[in-house]
Amino acid sequence: MREQSERPETALGGTRAPVRMCVRCCAITDTPVVVSEVHQGSGPGFTVYACRDCVPRVLDVLSLPPASRPGGGER
Ligand SMILES: [Zn+2]
Repeated sequence: MREQSERPETALGGTRAPVRMCVRCCAITDTPVVVSEVHQGSGPGFTVYACRDCVPRVLDVLSLPPASRPGGGER
């Protein structure tokens, strides 16, 4: 008996690599890191990814409230 099981993985054009676009440098990375999850009122929201090089920078920006920035004496 022959088993003909079509594998969706080997189908033409069925390659779905877990690639994401970096939110900072807009580069396509195959090692995406979730840096933020945006939840919307209507809908599942979306996830923000960054490449490994930009992760520290993105996290630094996200964890830095604008109000607590140093040098607020100006303006
Ligand atoms: Zn990047």
